Amino acid sequence: RIVYLNGAFLPFEEARVPIMDRGFLFADGIYEVSAIIDGKLVDNAAHLARLDRSLGEIGIRNPHDAAGWEKLQTELVARNGVREGLVYMQVTRGVAERDFAFPKAGTEPTVMMFTQAKTVLANPLAETGARVITVEDLRWKRRDIKSVALLAQVLAKQQAAEAGVAEAWMVEDGAVTEGSSSTAFIVSRERVLVTRPLSTALLPGITRASVLKLAGEADLKVEERLFSVAEAYEAQEAFYTSASAFVMPVVEIDGRSIGEGRPGPLTRRLRELYVEAACQG
Ligand code: PMP
Repeated sequence: RIVYLNGAFLPFEEARVPIMDRGFLFADGIYEVSAIIDGKLVDNAAHLARLDRSLGEIGIRNPHDAAGWEKLQTELVARNGVREGLVYMQVTRGVAERDFAFPKAGTEPTVMMFTQAKTVLANPLAETGARVITVEDLRWKRRDIKSVALLAQVLAKQQAAEAGVAEAWMVEDGAVTEGSSSTAFIVSRERVLVTRPLSTALLPGITRASVLKLAGEADLKVEERLFSVAEAYEAQEAFYTSASAFVMPVVEIDGRSIGEGRPGPLTRRLRELYVEAACQG
C-alpha cells in the first residue's frame, strides 16, 4: 500500500509524522474525502473547493491548487490500483514546538493522502436500509469547517455502534443538525425533501448539494429548513448522504420504523440518480 506524505509516495509503513505535528497535538488541521468509482474521483472539484475554503477559514495555506491536488490524487489511486473506494486527504498546520498560537511563518503544512479500497456502490446496507439513533450535538460553533477535531463525532458514532446501529443523528435545540459523518434528510408525507439549510451549524455536504440538484428529477420539492426529531419520526422516508455512503436509506430512528420500515422509493430513486451521475462524472 502506497500513501502520500509531504511530496513523496511512500510505502504505508514508512510514512511517519513527528510527534510535534499540530494535527497530533491540537487537531489543528483539515481533511477531505472523495469517493472513487471505476478508478475515477466523484464530485472531486467540489471536495477540493471545500478543502480550500476550510483551510482558508483557519489560516492554513493551501499547498496545492485544484489541478495539483487532482494530479496527486490520481497518481495515488493509480499506484494503489483502486477501482472503488475512497481517497482521504489531510493538511495540518505542520510541525513546531508546542504552543497554541500559530507557528512562525514559513512552517510547512503537513500534507497526507491515503486510499481505501472498499465497496461503495454495492453496499448491502443500502439494500436493507440503515438504523440511526439521535444523540446530543456536542460540537463547537464552526461545523462548516471540515476540521480533523472530530471527538464529538467519534463519541456519537461510538454510541451508535454500541446501540448496534449505523449512524447517529446529532440534535441541537430539538432539531437535527446532521449525522456524525453525514447529512440528514427526511421526505415528508407531502413529498417534500427536507434538509437543514447551510450555516455554521453543519458541514456543507458535497453529496447533499448534488442530491438537492437531483431532487427535481425525482419529482420532489425541496425545503431547506430545520426539522425536529419528532418530525423525523413521522417522516415518509429518511436518508443520509456522504461521499462514502452516497444516499443511504434510513429505516429506523431511535427504534421507531420510518414509513414502511424499508428503504423508500424516493430514496431509492435519488440513490440511483446519484450513482448514475457519479459514474458519468
Ligand atoms: N456532515 C458531517 C459532519 C460529515 O463528517 C460528513 C462527511 N464528511 C458529511 C456531513 C457529508 O459530507 P460529504 O457529502 O461532503 O461527504
